[in-house]
Amino acid sequence: MPRNAGRHFLQIPGPTNVPDRVLRAIDYPTMDHRGPDFAELGKAVLNGMRQVFKTKGEVVIYPASGTGAWEAALVNTLSPGDAVLMYETGHFAALWQKMAQKLGLAPEFLAGDWRTGANPARIEQCLREDQPKRIKAVCVVHNETSTGVTSRIAEVRKAIDAAQHPALLMVDTISSLASIDYRHDEWGVDVTVGGSQKGLMLPPGLSFNAISAKALAASKAAQLPRAYWAWDEMIASGKAGYFPYTPATNLLYGLRESLLMLLEEEGLENVFARHQRHAEATRRAVRAWGLEVLAANPAEYSGSLTAVLLPAGHDADRVRKVILENFDMSLGTGLGKLAGKVFRIGHLGDFNDLSLMGTLAGVEMGLTLAGVPVKKEGVAAAMAYLADRQRPVARAAA
Ligand SMILES: *Cc1c(COP(=O)(O)O)cnc(C)c1O
Repeated sequence: MPRNAGRHFLQIPGPTNVPDRVLRAIDYPTMDHRGPDFAELGKAVLNGMRQVFKTKGEVVIYPASGTGAWEAALVNTLSPGDAVLMYETGHFAALWQKMAQKLGLAPEFLAGDWRTGANPARIEQCLREDQPKRIKAVCVVHNETSTGVTSRIAEVRKAIDAAQHPALLMVDTISSLASIDYRHDEWGVDVTVGGSQKGLMLPPGLSFNAISAKALAASKAAQLPRAYWAWDEMIASGKAGYFPYTPATNLLYGLRESLLMLLEEEGLENVFARHQRHAEATRRAVRAWGLEVLAANPAEYSGSLTAVLLPAGHDADRVRKVILENFDMSLGTGLGKLAGKVFRIGHLGDFNDLSLMGTLAGVEMGLTLAGVPVKKEGVAAAMAYLADRQRPVARAAA
């Protein structure tokens, strides 16, 4: 393989670029996870994650990819045959639904168009019709990574309340956590699922559940088999800063560093504003190229990524290949039924104005090289927006 000079541009919507200082933080001798020093690390990361989820409740950290935390949310709270209402926002929602089936649950899958988020009115209607209260949980993906569409979780909560339905609310925030505003407690979410390799700027390998008191109560009666994922021992050990089995110690060093960056140095609200600004600049570039953003509703635009629709007759994966070969940049592929139709630009995590400009320049050159008819005006449109709307200088409270 010939050497590519300079850094690879990893602009898929996760895993994201890991800051050098997070890599340095991981590069430390692994410590005794039962020893006295570990408790301080364990407590620090659990408390930091509470701030990220915006919860005062329980948080558990698994040495697992996000999929593990999906499973944990279901097996800890539900019993065989339980009905769960899931919303087809896109590919990731479909995978979570398949998992529910494999676990012996009875998911009811509300069909979606892969361009809009979960519709609170439809959820409310389903719950109103469920007089016998068979539905035990409503599951929604906050930021659907296959489409770049965000669902309005606070409104989903209101819909459940309006139907006076006791179902738990479970939300996948794997690609929104620490990128897009999210409030576990305020929005009345019962189980939130998160992962390390997207907004948290870490390598893959950690995942999270934030757990409400109601979900904890449900876990006492839930009958699905669980061992590795069981919350009770995780929570009991976590009180003292420990884990019931060997945690991913070095990733926790990295998490402590990324939490310092997000919570103390930049501040979560500034992190969210930065993502919104880069997302808006990206959408302006897409439109200036003469292409279409997949997300249909401006109230649901994602801050983490933008899915770009190609004109009929042009293969998005060929564009991605041209960009990888010529400019050493990886973009997200079209997933599921969007294969070949869209590519996805990840603009989340450790990302700034010039990372965005480099990314958009690579896309604009690649589209032209691949023979897609576009106006070469996207980079200029994004640049004008960024220059106009200066980077917020506000700092996290010291
Ligand atoms: C990335 C992602 C997942 C899958 O997480 P893994 O870490 O690959 O298991 C699930 N849901 C969403 C919304 C994601 O973005």
